[in-house]
Amino acid sequence: MTGSNTKPKVAFYWAASCGGCEITVTELGMRLVTVGELVDIVFWPCAMDFKYEDVEALQDGEVDVCFFNGGIRNSENEHIAKLLRRKSKVMVAFGSCANEGCIPGLANLFDAESIMERVYTTIPSLDDSRGTLPAPSSQVPEGEIELPLFCDHLKTLAQVVDVDYFMPGCPPVVEQVWNVLQVILGGQLPAKGSVIGADDKTVCDVCPLNKMGSSIRIKEFKRPHEVDLDPDVCFLAQGVICLGPVTRAGCGLPCIQGNMPCRGCYGPPDGVVDQGSKLLSAIAGLMDTDNPEELEHTMDSIVDLVGTCYRFSLADSVLNELKYK
Ligand code: SF4
Ligand code: SF4
Repeated sequence: MTGSNTKPKVAFYWAASCGGCEITVTELGMRLVTVGELVDIVFWPCAMDFKYEDVEALQDGEVDVCFFNGGIRNSENEHIAKLLRRKSKVMVAFGSCANEGCIPGLANLFDAESIMERVYTTIPSLDDSRGTLPAPSSQVPEGEIELPLFCDHLKTLAQVVDVDYFMPGCPPVVEQVWNVLQVILGGQLPAKGSVIGADDKTVCDVCPLNKMGSSIRIKEFKRPHEVDLDPDVCFLAQGVICLGPVTRAGCGLPCIQGNMPCRGCYGPPDGVVDQGSKLLSAIAGLMDTDNPEELEHTMDSIVDLVGTCYRFSLADSVLNELKYK
């Protein structure tokens, strides 16, 4: 896919994430051949044999667009984010982890030391390696081995470098990836700082189950597996938390179509600063009582409150700001 120096240069990178965003790119299938004809992929370590030296050898600003997926969890992630920022004209936070931390960001409930303690010492499934912690530098007969430093907490890409565009989703759906590539290749980029590959509406706005108006009242929340879910009725009306009211649309509603509530992976819509607290506010408006004890019972029925409200957005939340700034 390399060769011409007249084609736009594109880079993809995978930092602290599951890699699902990169899988979405490969799901372009035969359209990847078209992409390869239109652009010069200069860095994509997930799929092709590139080295960091290949990026270092590029001129500053030589990469036209970098799709950076994953949060910043260690010193290597941070170094490459800064390197790619310097080499790229346009930096896209690609997917939920880069945008708002996603599932790895939930680890910000704990500090680095307690995470290391849990992973390398107290987890029951550990074998003889129990208690051996990774060291940044180790001497072995062959020489010195270095490992990236595990940071105190996970940062979003925009907390480390300047980001031009934000592309949400866990992962962004393949049609949105295709749309964004076409927009970029057509030179029709919106204003810097825009969300791309998603819609302005909320998931509720486009949900076919949105027929209840303001009549929903809830006394107790259930988890999806505890309810015989009616596929024609709004999840919230069935007492199952759905983040549709506080989530940006654009995914095509695969969860709703699969009879599962929205978990919020496309992040907050325009005007919502903190997705989790906005959800709590929306839920509070649905509670069917003013009695403090009944209200407490309703709130207690939410299992894993933080993980439910901030499943994708904790590292980019007001809670995170209060803890780390
Ligand atoms: S709360 Fe969920 S199920 Fe109900 S209308 Fe909104 S997106 Fe659809
Ligand atoms: S319905 Fe919600 S959780 Fe599911 S893909 Fe869409 S935004 Fe993500």
